[in-house]
Amino acid sequence: MRLGLLSTLALIFLSVLSAPSRVYTQVETLQTKVTHVFGETIQFEAEVVSTSPIKAAVIFFQADRDTRTNVGLAEVETAGFRRYKLTYTHSTEDYSFRPFSAIRFHWELTFQTGNTFTSPVDFFVYTDNRFDWQALKEKDLSAYWYDGDLQFAQEILDIAQDGQQKIQNLLPMPEAGAIQIYTYADSAALQTALNIGGESWVAGHADPDLGVILIALPQTPEQQLLARQRIPHELMHVLMYRDVGPAYFNLPVWLREGLASAAELYPNPDYQILLQESAAQDQLLPIRSLCEAFPREASSALLSYAEAQSFTGYLHNRFGASGLKTLITAYANGMDCESGFKHAFGKDLSQLERDWQREVLSQNVALKAFQNLLPWGVLLLAVLAVPLIMALLNLRGSSV
Ligand SMILES: [Zn+2]
Repeated sequence: MRLGLLSTLALIFLSVLSAPSRVYTQVETLQTKVTHVFGETIQFEAEVVSTSPIKAAVIFFQADRDTRTNVGLAEVETAGFRRYKLTYTHSTEDYSFRPFSAIRFHWELTFQTGNTFTSPVDFFVYTDNRFDWQALKEKDLSAYWYDGDLQFAQEILDIAQDGQQKIQNLLPMPEAGAIQIYTYADSAALQTALNIGGESWVAGHADPDLGVILIALPQTPEQQLLARQRIPHELMHVLMYRDVGPAYFNLPVWLREGLASAAELYPNPDYQILLQESAAQDQLLPIRSLCEAFPREASSALLSYAEAQSFTGYLHNRFGASGLKTLITAYANGMDCESGFKHAFGKDLSQLERDWQREVLSQNVALKAFQNLLPWGVLLLAVLAVPLIMALLNLRGSSV
């Protein structure tokens, strides 16, 4: 089963190097084959023709935008006259890579003569090859899917274009550039791809630095609505990154998620209900608690998204796209959650949070006050009612 999976699904990348003899006196050719079983192993195999016996071979590999360079000592076998076979198997349990990231590698060989050889850098893409992906491209957008027809893929591209339009109306953004959208048929497959557990509510993910979007779109009656929600949301993450670069990660989480949620063509209808209920019960999470991270637990996570969307929308209404741009720039320049706010709007985060609660959730504030007063009101009525009833009874008594 494992072998079958490997041979049918594994991505195979071949590279042939014809080394100019002037530079590489020992190595005539070096041919590398990389196969991987997603979430399990990556195997590097090379065939080398060398005039000198190879004493040791080391593979260096690193994913794009990753800081760690992995180093592996390969097994060296003789495979005929002047021919050598190099093999190294990496377990992703030891170090895992993001799905669909490009992994660059090169070999360093040491010969028995003491000389060394460094191969040019090559790469392969660490695809989620558990599935047989189909592709549809339109300009810079690429849709990948494995469950559904061509029409489904076209809808994904159309929704992505509508999403880009909505984003431009919200905030002027630079040209999107290449974006890849991978659609999983269920959330579980997406979550295992991301190697996350305990966050069963996760149905979308963006690696904005890679321009890669992963979403789950099960074949249900809500599929199109969910696509209109999830695709623009993740697109916004990518576009924000393309706008400010790696400084994107300095932006508070509530702002990143708030803007992404504001981009949704079909906003989550649960957010409004949840906000109203939480405000009425005085259970809103303070915005400053959402600067670094969102809670992982499902209901608090949902409330965090609802608040982020509503608060960001309030700021957009009050200060416009230019105000939000100033805020994004302040954070991108390294200001912290509170000081970026003060810099952009001249007000404290907590002050604008109060304004937002009063102006946007004012109904709920009144409702909350009413509910808080309700037991006292009932008591007061009861207290007032007793003499009133007594008086009425007296009145009746006297009139008869
Ligand atoms: Zn998001």
